[in-house]
Amino acid sequence: MEAFDEIHDFVVVGSGGGSMCAGLVMRSVGNSVLILEKTEVVGGTTARSGGVMWLPNNPFMKRDGVEDSFEKASMYLEALCGEDRDAPGSTPARRRRYISEVPRMLDFLGRQGIKLTRAQYWPDYHDELPGGSERGRAVVAELFDVNELGAWKQKLRPTFIRAPYALLPPTLEEMMELPAYKRSWRVKLLIVRLVLRGLLAKLTGKQWTAGGAALQGRMLQAALRSGIDIRTDSPVSELIVEAGEVKGVLTNRNARPWRVGARLGVLVNAGGFARNQAMRDRYTPGTSVKWTMATPGDTGEMIEEMMRHGAAVAQMDERVGNQQTHPPGAEDSEAKPTAQAMTASPHCILVDQSGLRYMNEGGSYMAYCKAMLERNRSVPAVPSWAVFDSQYLAKYMLAGTMPGSRKPQSWYDSGYLKRADSIEALAQQIRIDPATLKTTVERFNGFVASNHDEDFHRGERAYDRWLGDDLNKPSATLGTIAQAPFYAVQIIPGDVGTYGGVVTDDHARVLREDGSVIAGLYATGVSTASVMGRKYPGAGSSVGPSFIWGFVAAQHAAQVASP
Ligand SMILES: Cc1cc2nc3c(=O)[nH]c(=O)nc-3n(C[C@H](O)[C@H](O)[C@H](O)COP(=O)(O)OP(=O)(O)OC[C@H]3O[C@@H](n4cnc5c(N)ncnc54)[C@H](O)[C@@H]3O)c2cc1C
Repeated sequence: MEAFDEIHDFVVVGSGGGSMCAGLVMRSVGNSVLILEKTEVVGGTTARSGGVMWLPNNPFMKRDGVEDSFEKASMYLEALCGEDRDAPGSTPARRRRYISEVPRMLDFLGRQGIKLTRAQYWPDYHDELPGGSERGRAVVAELFDVNELGAWKQKLRPTFIRAPYALLPPTLEEMMELPAYKRSWRVKLLIVRLVLRGLLAKLTGKQWTAGGAALQGRMLQAALRSGIDIRTDSPVSELIVEAGEVKGVLTNRNARPWRVGARLGVLVNAGGFARNQAMRDRYTPGTSVKWTMATPGDTGEMIEEMMRHGAAVAQMDERVGNQQTHPPGAEDSEAKPTAQAMTASPHCILVDQSGLRYMNEGGSYMAYCKAMLERNRSVPAVPSWAVFDSQYLAKYMLAGTMPGSRKPQSWYDSGYLKRADSIEALAQQIRIDPATLKTTVERFNGFVASNHDEDFHRGERAYDRWLGDDLNKPSATLGTIAQAPFYAVQIIPGDVGTYGGVVTDDHARVLREDGSVIAGLYATGVSTASVMGRKYPGAGSSVGPSFIWGFVAAQHAAQVASP
């Protein structure tokens, strides 16, 4: 390996979810690790995210008396993903390995000082299936004081979790409760607790962060302590391959090409291609880079580089959808308002451009956005319309604004927020046949009266109800659209990232089309074809796998049986 500028045992491309987890495994047995991150900050979309990891049969469930087991989780994944056609990322062996690594990885991370816990109630997205968990399998990081990172604090990518005021540092679960503050004493008390937390933080010099930044902040802290070398502004442009084996990578250092050797292997954890319009046009046509909340580094070149060396790719047409509504300026901003719970809440429905409902608005965001694109093949449905009334606006958020708040005049002037005194007049504004929209709304109001959505069964799943409003009685998701003025905004099938990539085996090794292994090359996260195939089992089905396959890859490369 003389031709290298420097040599490490293990080199990781990208600082995503699995990168530091893999690095910690390597360091635990004394191997040197270099993580090369293209952007100026560490953490990837994982740091921006909610930081939720779908980790079935985790010890926090046992601690809290929530039933789960390897068998139950396997039953669920089999029921959900077992039938996936053309999803080589989701083999039975990989699904089994995924579930079986959860307790081992959490034990390992616990020993590294990473403080995790479970979300208290976050149903699986298909909890009605055999093996589904109503209380959920989501694992999250405890709040993290970024000041503990010292100079590295500026290098941690911030989370998307924002509280309305700086003095209210909430966890993700707490943030989701805040909009009900006017209607719930529980939430009023929560705000008091948050203010106290904020004041105490000010007094003690702490700066709490939550979600993905708490997770990646904790990982970064452990990584630095363990001696992992992490470099930002260090894009990898090529894999260095000799005789079919990956030996290192080409990056830049001090503005010149820099060849780094990797004795035990290279792990690619470089995200997907949500920010690459050419790759979108090829693999997910009809979608736009302007619809994604993935971070700017998500440009797919490492997937293409692995393909150049013979890697097979699969599930490239899959994205983790995220329904969004775009007030003026949102398309060009990093923070795009999600409409995830909007049309699943009472007093709101989703209709296509002919004025018909066409799905259970309470399903997973992945299923929701797929349904929009699928519908669009026969009836124009991109964008679709959220139709709601004044009860909705009084009780729920719209495009990031609080319930009952005055909406910016520019929303009306620009035509983003349509308003009318009758459903027929609203229909005319959004160019839908008035009689059709009236019939749709009346039919939905009939379902509200009978508390049963005969067409799409909205509200029958625990997850649908979780998305809705547990203060709304008798149904968390059904409420009439009956009080003028009536409103409509466009909903588009945005995303938080892509879900296809290189095919890997149950050791996270990258495979060729013929199933053979590309020696020295591992991959994890959304650079790979997901172990969940074409489905999203529950909150955290992107970050969870990124961590697990990073953990698995490092064990294989270092030949460690039990880190
Ligand atoms: C607002 C939001 C909330 C979300 N919430 C959740 C959630 O709670 N749970 C969940 O599971 N998913 C969530 N997602 C989706 C999830 O965050 C991503 O799919 C996931 O984090 C991807 O992780 P990763 O490890 O594959 O890559 P990433 O975390 O994106 O990391 C990849 C890194 O590689 C770097 N990189 C790319 N190319 C190169 C190169 N050539 N050289 C060097 N570095 C490179 C990138 O800059 C990036 O830093 C959310 C997404 C968003 C936007």
